[in-house]
Amino acid sequence: KSWAVMPTPPQMLQLLCNVNIYAPTPLGIKDVLIAGNKIAAIYDHGQGQIDIPKQWHVNIINFEGATLTPGFIDSHAHITGGGGEAGFATQVPPVGLTEFTHAGVTTVVGLLGTDDTTRSTENLLSRVYGLREEGMSAYCWTGGYHYPLTTITGSAKSDIVFLEPVIGIGEFAISDHRSSQPTFEEVIRLASETHVAGLITGKAGIIHFHLGDGEKRLALIEQAIRDTELPARVFNPTHVNRNKALFEDSCKLLTQGCHIDLTAFPAGTAQPGWEASDAIEMAIERQLPLEQITLSSDGGGCLPCFDPQGELVHMDFGRASTLGETLVETLHKGLPLEQVLPMLTSNVANILRFKNKGQIAVGFDADLLIMNEKYEITDVMAQGVWHKQNNQTIIKGTFE
Ligand code: ZN
Repeated sequence: KSWAVMPTPPQMLQLLCNVNIYAPTPLGIKDVLIAGNKIAAIYDHGQGQIDIPKQWHVNIINFEGATLTPGFIDSHAHITGGGGEAGFATQVPPVGLTEFTHAGVTTVVGLLGTDDTTRSTENLLSRVYGLREEGMSAYCWTGGYHYPLTTITGSAKSDIVFLEPVIGIGEFAISDHRSSQPTFEEVIRLASETHVAGLITGKAGIIHFHLGDGEKRLALIEQAIRDTELPARVFNPTHVNRNKALFEDSCKLLTQGCHIDLTAFPAGTAQPGWEASDAIEMAIERQLPLEQITLSSDGGGCLPCFDPQGELVHMDFGRASTLGETLVETLHKGLPLEQVLPMLTSNVANILRFKNKGQIAVGFDADLLIMNEKYEITDVMAQGVWHKQNNQTIIKGTFE
């Protein structure tokens, strides 16, 4: 298996020619040299083939002006499968590799949600390692919805410090009937643990909060920013577009220095909240600090589908493909790619402290997407290896 994934020596150098780079800043038409799993050089179009020595055996691919972007970073996915909220039979199975890579996600951060009882951090971490073996970049949050946290080593702090893929706490539930009804003291104790662990390790060191539809909304976070010395960046609420009042409060939180995370709900399921594309449009219109806004998929989470009488018709689960769909919706609204793309790439890398990801720049990881003129993702490279080419899946997960 690993022989199929590892690039053989003649493919170690690849020149992606004639690509229109959004890095996510627009750079124009360029040629990009990939060496192993890194971006080695960016040339003006045509210059690469002149400058690169002939004996280097570079595999040259001409993309004829197609758009090249960084791979998406999905900070919120139930990689072990989420759900289980309507009986044991509703536990979602583990999410396969191509569910992410085919949708343009080259880096994922896995987590536990409501069910942090039958599901464990050990199991989550093993799925992270599995996705890495299959060729994508993967990390995870420790804990889950509830206090006390589900951990491996006994505390969030030591999980983050000693377990390399663990970057912070999440998704920790507040303002939700499924939460542990955490107190203010419990919330700030956890926030201090992840903050200090982040300082020790250079990892994200944040607490990624699941927000429910409860009336207290962001009150615990607002109080923590007001009454403690903890930096606002430590408090990272997600699902903030799930209802309109919560979205308004979240916009105010941006001005305090928080980073907020929108969920790319599948089309037609955002009620009573905002579709992520609507929320992004409002953020741009209101001239909010866009660099503090990120978008994630909730992939693998449970999505019950009800008929008009409220009867459960079938169970589905969240998919990473809603990220790309949201991006296309924003472009249909006339929003510029360079304003929306950072929410799936560089903004996420920034808050998660992924130093080599989220941008097309020399020395960064070769996690790249090719998009056609309709901004459909046709080609996906993760760690310098093609996972999808010409819309065809090249690398599948072990059981796909
Ligand atoms: Zn959640």
